[in-house]
Amino acid sequence: MANFDRVIVPENGTPITIENNELKVPDNPIIPFIRGDGIGIDLWPASQLVLDAAVEKAYGGNRKIAWMKIYAGDEAVDKYGDGQYLPEDTINAIKEFIIAIKGPLTTPVGGGHRSLNVSLRRILDLYACVRPVKWFKGVPSPSVHPHWMDIVIFRENTEDVYSGIEWEQGTDAVAKVIEFINKEMGKNIRLDSGIGVKPISITGTKRLVRKAIKYAIAEGRKSITFMHKGNIMKYTEGAFKDWGYELAIDEFRDYIITEAELWDEAMAEDGVTPITKPGAFAELRGGKPAGDPNGRIIIKDRIADSIFQQIQTRTNEYDIIATPNLNGDYISDAAAAMVGGLGMAPGANIGDFIGLFEATHGTAPKYAGQDKVNPGSLMLSGVMMLNYLGWREAGEMIEKAIKRTIEVKTVTYDLHRQMEGATKVSCSGYAAEIVKNMV
Ligand code: NAP
Repeated sequence: MANFDRVIVPENGTPITIENNELKVPDNPIIPFIRGDGIGIDLWPASQLVLDAAVEKAYGGNRKIAWMKIYAGDEAVDKYGDGQYLPEDTINAIKEFIIAIKGPLTTPVGGGHRSLNVSLRRILDLYACVRPVKWFKGVPSPSVHPHWMDIVIFRENTEDVYSGIEWEQGTDAVAKVIEFINKEMGKNIRLDSGIGVKPISITGTKRLVRKAIKYAIAEGRKSITFMHKGNIMKYTEGAFKDWGYELAIDEFRDYIITEAELWDEAMAEDGVTPITKPGAFAELRGGKPAGDPNGRIIIKDRIADSIFQQIQTRTNEYDIIATPNLNGDYISDAAAAMVGGLGMAPGANIGDFIGLFEATHGTAPKYAGQDKVNPGSLMLSGVMMLNYLGWREAGEMIEKAIKRTIEVKTVTYDLHRQMEGATKVSCSGYAAEIVKNMV
């Protein structure tokens, strides 16, 4: 075990391990948690209460999480000293105990500090950002059919324009880069430009898509859509799509069918030669979709801008979305907005085994310490974590209790201000109601 400087490993817990390429979860797993900055102070106790109650109820006291407090953000500075926003202890603890959960963290202001979330993803190689988005009955939504939304977004986390390879306008470095591209590569970039680089690799793409397909198989999902802007950025976004199909066919042939193959099958059934494009063929079939995939997962792709329309107008045609980093960032928030906003949107950053589960919103500093905000996002991230542990019964119990609590219109301020006849409760009050509604 790593030597921790200021972290106390709970004596009543057992570490999660990896055996034969699988997680081995004891009945009393040690799980590190980062409370988080700002509203983390309110969200974490509320979420822990609900997670503990569900585990206790679901397993009659035979299972219990041994929580281990670790530090990042402002709390880490208090504990470890100036500038120590992300101490070694924290990284070592997550590596050692494999699964962890966190509240939101402030991005430190000032030179040299990058987002702590981005740093955690980078250092721990958490290459898949997984965000399920679905509607809870009763949550106010701007969408006409919010119940159609039940998607899971797999966003690549380590590449794309997010990889931080950029040069500021006016610097010697950017001048060198521009000179190289203009002279050596025959391009014509304006000399007063800043430059960012967008790397997208076979490695990064395939490991993300592999994870998405494995998830789809395990969860009985119907389709995976590659969201990309490959019509314009052919060798990055277009390649992402091509490598995605390649991997699906090479590694999961028995489980998948591509949309194009499905159309070919439908055309063959109709006795039509497959010469038309899928869209045109839909017209021919009177708008009917292609045939039955017979339990296989449909692999398809859509251009990024069109999918922003489609998730609003044809929401139920989308299930799992796998996409490069920047698209994933945008589509996650857009989808969350359709089901009631970020207060209810959970997330996880996952590597080969390590899983860091987190609220998707920020630290909302103006509400910190007021016991006011919605802990739904962090609680639902906890549900994802329980499912990842294989403790599905406890996860389901929380989800059902949240549903019940919202259906009887007991909600925090953010939902209350959009609902008629609702009862407003505090963050801790909401958690207590959810525990009461656990059956
Ligand atoms: P934010 O903290 O997400 O807050 C923006 C607004 O979203 C809040 O004012 C509030 O809206 C609403 N909101 C957020 N969380 C809520 C909750 N649990 N319940 C109800 N409403 C909630 O965004 P920000 O103000 O742009 O960012 C603040 C800090 O957080 C920054 O330092 C940023 O870098 C950081 N951040 C961290 C993460 C992360 O750790 N994963 C993610 C994003 C941002 P109303 O005012 O309308 O009530």
